[in-house]
Amino acid sequence: MAAYRHESRLDAAAALVLDTRELGRRPGSMRVVQREVRAPRRIGLDLVAVPADAALTLDLRMESVMEGVLITGTVSGIAEGECSRCLEPLHEPVSVHLTELYAYPNSATETTTDADEFRSVVADLIDLEEAVTDAVALALPLQPLCSPECLGLCPTCGVPLAIAGTGHGHETMDPRWAALATSMQSAVLTEATAVTEPTGEREPSSTVASRTDHGAPTDVEEK
Ligand SMILES: [Zn+2]
Ligand SMILES: [Zn+2]
Repeated sequence: MAAYRHESRLDAAAALVLDTRELGRRPGSMRVVQREVRAPRRIGLDLVAVPADAALTLDLRMESVMEGVLITGTVSGIAEGECSRCLEPLHEPVSVHLTELYAYPNSATETTTDADEFRSVVADLIDLEEAVTDAVALALPLQPLCSPECLGLCPTCGVPLAIAGTGHGHETMDPRWAALATSMQSAVLTEATAVTEPTGEREPSSTVASRTDHGAPTDVEEK
């Protein structure tokens, strides 16, 4: 049914429309179709897509077969988007193989198959748009990467790790351990201060205080 709706609208001069009349209906005849076309619309997903109007290169063979016209070959272009790890802009070459049979009206394929399961030759014309956009969309990566080794973003501060360098990091700790570490650190500092003090002037109270500090975290931990 979809094919008939398109019939009046197919334009033989449109970039993604092929005219099969030059091919003839004799099975085995073949034409090479090499064209630069513009993407009829944005093709792709949120993170990466071939933009509308971007160049697509068709390198196809159009062959006459019993049932209709077989289109094989490649469609290539450049997708644009951003890296799913570091969010940097990226350009992703896309090259996708196409194999599509366009059935003749009243061919066995058309009379025995549901209309939405095959494509048709309509008034001697083939509309490649859907086949090309579907194939390109399927070829795009779900998780595009600027490079396979992309290090992504620092989960703490969000800086791209490729820019920050391998030494980049943050002192991070579970808040419970962080509290413990802080009190242990102050205990160590108190002790260190006590040791550097001249022994003669060392007050017994400071020794007692550092012992208390040592003991406190242990009590916390046991609870
Ligand atoms: Zn990246
Ligand atoms: Zn960071």
